[in-house]
Amino acid sequence: MSEMIADAVQPKAWYKALPRPQYSTLTKVDQPEAWFDVYKLDHDIFAIYEQGHFQEVISYLILGGEKAMLLDTGMGIGNIKNVVDALTDLPLVVVNTHTHFDHIGCNHLFELVHVLDHPGAVRRMKEGLTHEEVADNLKDDSTWYPYPKEFDPDTYHIEPCNFTTIKEGHVFDLGGRTLTVLSTPGHSPDSLMLVDEQNKLLFTGDTFYPATLYAHLDSHDGLKSVQSTYRQTMERLAAQYSDYTLICSHNEPLRPGSVLGQVAKAFAQIENGEVDYQIDAEGLKKYTFDGFCIVTV
Ligand SMILES: [Zn+2]
Repeated sequence: MSEMIADAVQPKAWYKALPRPQYSTLTKVDQPEAWFDVYKLDHDIFAIYEQGHFQEVISYLILGGEKAMLLDTGMGIGNIKNVVDALTDLPLVVVNTHTHFDHIGCNHLFELVHVLDHPGAVRRMKEGLTHEEVADNLKDDSTWYPYPKEFDPDTYHIEPCNFTTIKEGHVFDLGGRTLTVLSTPGHSPDSLMLVDEQNKLLFTGDTFYPATLYAHLDSHDGLKSVQSTYRQTMERLAAQYSDYTLICSHNEPLRPGSVLGQVAKAFAQIENGEVDYQIDAEGLKKYTFDGFCIVTV
């Protein structure tokens, strides 16, 4: 018999796990927006962290010799453009790892956003997300940082933006630094990763991060998770990038690529019914492994 839990996704008093230990090993950077905490990583990368909200999403500013890249634009609660403007004068390229709300919130503040070529992603860029579609994300104790004074939770929504689509193999050349696009479906069909081959870095988006991985998401617009696809993506990544450093989009930035194989194996074990799970009031199943969890339907 599986153990019952209240909520497989958002545990009560989730913020008691903060601060996450890895941040004490990173250098914090001054910038003007109190909603964000910004940390400098090696290889000219800034982690732009939103620990005030349950999602603990992390966007990244990646500097090249001639251009900078902003990978994701956050929740749209704080103004991430003010953060970026304080950190670099370089011309900016903006990319979304995928189009879930917490990665696209400030897209409209930028001239052009690159997304993976998928009809659901295209629709979301054109239409944004309504208040009704995102309001639940601010409920109960989702947020513990004070909102910026310009932010109104009662009208919170995601604006449409100017965008262009990219495919697997697309190369962003930032000047002395290239980032190559991988299509990595599973968490969502429009998920991409970026490979920095020179520095052996893999920007993983939501396909891997050191917390509860979402393989359960459903959506009326086709942007839903597919568990078997997720496993196949993890197997492909494990075969190729296990000696890379992963730079992740939630909770803590850095993990060794060796975890990719563990996640691939975990998905196979779930498919084969080999692991115990907890089940919540919605019927979602939560599987706990060393360093990550997986939620499925
Ligand atoms: Zn996501």
